[in-house]
Amino acid sequence: MFYIGCHLSSSAGYLAMGRTATELGANTFQFFTRNPRGGSVKKFDPDDAAALVSYMKENNFGKIVAHAPYTLNPASAEQKTREFANMVFADDIDILEHIPDSLYNFHPGSHVGQGVEIGIKYILEMLNNNMRREMKTTILLETMAGKGSEIGATFEELKTIIDGCEYKEHLGVCLDTCHISDGGYDVGDGFDKTLEEFDRIIGLDRLFAVHLNDSKNPKGAHKDRHEKIGQGFIGLDNIERIINHPALKDLPFELETPNDNDGYAAEIKLLRSLRK
Ligand code: FE
Ligand code: FE
Ligand code: ZN
Repeated sequence: MFYIGCHLSSSAGYLAMGRTATELGANTFQFFTRNPRGGSVKKFDPDDAAALVSYMKENNFGKIVAHAPYTLNPASAEQKTREFANMVFADDIDILEHIPDSLYNFHPGSHVGQGVEIGIKYILEMLNNNMRREMKTTILLETMAGKGSEIGATFEELKTIIDGCEYKEHLGVCLDTCHISDGGYDVGDGFDKTLEEFDRIIGLDRLFAVHLNDSKNPKGAHKDRHEKIGQGFIGLDNIERIINHPALKDLPFELETPNDNDGYAAEIKLLRSLRK
């Protein structure tokens, strides 16, 4: 099954996102759990979440991805920022338990000059203090572009986080094609090698989702500027290889390209035509 979707606005609620996904030709989607630049959240409506769960079953949806706000930085040097990250993380997990088997993706964080080691120590505090043995959500560390002091631009750093997590049975990775290319990994002819490296260091069984984006910048640029599918440095041939790769083909692919919903629908249609 090809699970392809895109980032949707959550402002109209959960069931509305499911219906919009269908309208766009999608059978999965991603959304922000709350205001991405702030952190405020609408009052949670469990009936709306239950309606989405039924809708997804009826329409054979793949897993959906909830994305944490960008302001969540568990690796910060500021205690207040770390406390905010812990609060949001715990609260979002509580909400997602109403949509069982969902994926919760977050940017591991920026160490803001303290160094990777201290940053990872704080990230692990957040994970180990708030994850639960019996949780139904899988937490995903997103592969990052390595902009500024971002942690998680190398497979080794992600592996260190996984190793330190007491609940690693609920922890995985979301591969962002723009980010890994910007991070210096080959998503072109050398993509097999990149996935072999991922498998050797992290293990492909930890890979739960793909953010499918082209990049405005060449490999290794450490910029993190997404481009429309086929219009950037990754290019359509390589994107076609990625969506058909045997190691990835059953995962949910989420577009985070600079598009409105019509643009997303056109990309989904194009990608469906390229899927073998
Ligand atoms: Fe992200
Ligand atoms: Fe992403
Ligand atoms: Zn990005």
